Amino acid sequence: MKLISSLFLLLLLLSTVPTYAMEQPAPKNIILLIGDGMGIAQITAGKIVNKHLNLEEFKHLGLLMTHSGNALVTDSAASGTAMATGYKTDNKMIAVSHEGTPLKSIVEYAQEANKAIGLVVTSSITHATPAVFAAHVDNRKSQTLIAEQLSKSGIDVLLGGGWGYFVPNTVKGSFRNDHKNLLDKLAEQTTVIQTEKEFNELDDVDSVVGLFARKALPKADKRKPGLPELTSKAIQILSKNQKGFFLMVEGSQIDWAGHDNNSNDIIKEVIDFDNAIGVALAFAKNNIETLVLVTADHETGGYAIHDGSIIKQQVTDGQFTHSHHTAEMVPVFAYGPGSSDFTGIGDNTKIGKILIAYLKK
Ligand SMILES: [Zn+2]
Repeated sequence: MKLISSLFLLLLLLSTVPTYAMEQPAPKNIILLIGDGMGIAQITAGKIVNKHLNLEEFKHLGLLMTHSGNALVTDSAASGTAMATGYKTDNKMIAVSHEGTPLKSIVEYAQEANKAIGLVVTSSITHATPAVFAAHVDNRKSQTLIAEQLSKSGIDVLLGGGWGYFVPNTVKGSFRNDHKNLLDKLAEQTTVIQTEKEFNELDDVDSVVGLFARKALPKADKRKPGLPELTSKAIQILSKNQKGFFLMVEGSQIDWAGHDNNSNDIIKEVIDFDNAIGVALAFAKNNIETLVLVTADHETGGYAIHDGSIIKQQVTDGQFTHSHHTAEMVPVFAYGPGSSDFTGIGDNTKIGKILIAYLKK
């Protein structure tokens, strides 16, 4: 009888505690790669042209619903917030609830756990997806305010574009309407770089802010340094921290190619993003306490492949239903400790909820 009642108690416990919080030890390092606007068709097109994708190495796959708090079709701010905080919010909102209350993000939990933090993107670093991890504002367009919050965030590695949001209005190319020089402020605490040469000559630093363009970085075939190199450098710096790290890498421009209904650009951006995934996977294979997650915030363009050739490795007819985002589910790929927690059909808040549960362990 005693055995039966303790079995009953155990079953009760099992049914109330989320399985992800108890199945495996929490990963020491987390690398979250977000392909902005990367749906199944975008990945398929990349695979047709490149033959093989690093994504094929992942054995645990799931699908995520992406709707926001106030719309079936999300924007990057709301879906990013869901992934960064575990909560749905309205479109345009950056890690705040729809009333405007700040929502604590993965980055803030990871900092409490003394982990090193990095954000690496091909857009401006103040764009919606990176912003949700390190800022709290009620409108994604407030990029100069996001720049101020990023400057004070204590994030160890910031790499991407967008220096125009950080320099005073006396500097040509500034987007600011005040005299604040956030790059000067940052330079008091860390190494600030702005050119490919400085990036290549970067010493053995513990932190860096690298903003290589006034706004977004160039397209995949013109980017120098490219997303794989930026990812590699970020991992090299962050992995020095004995407590581990959290790194978010965004293939920002897959989305823009979708908005432009440009099939060729989608393919180039997906393959470039996949090369960055390869860098993360190579690290995870040698550092087995590392969880690598790849997902998207939403699909863009209602992209579909209508013709092409596996033999010739080409997509000759890629079509679009729209120039905006769609509500299609997006895939999530997981590798490393905890990867089985991400299988099945779920909601994008699952990413934030699970990762935060790991960080609270
Ligand atoms: Zn978009």
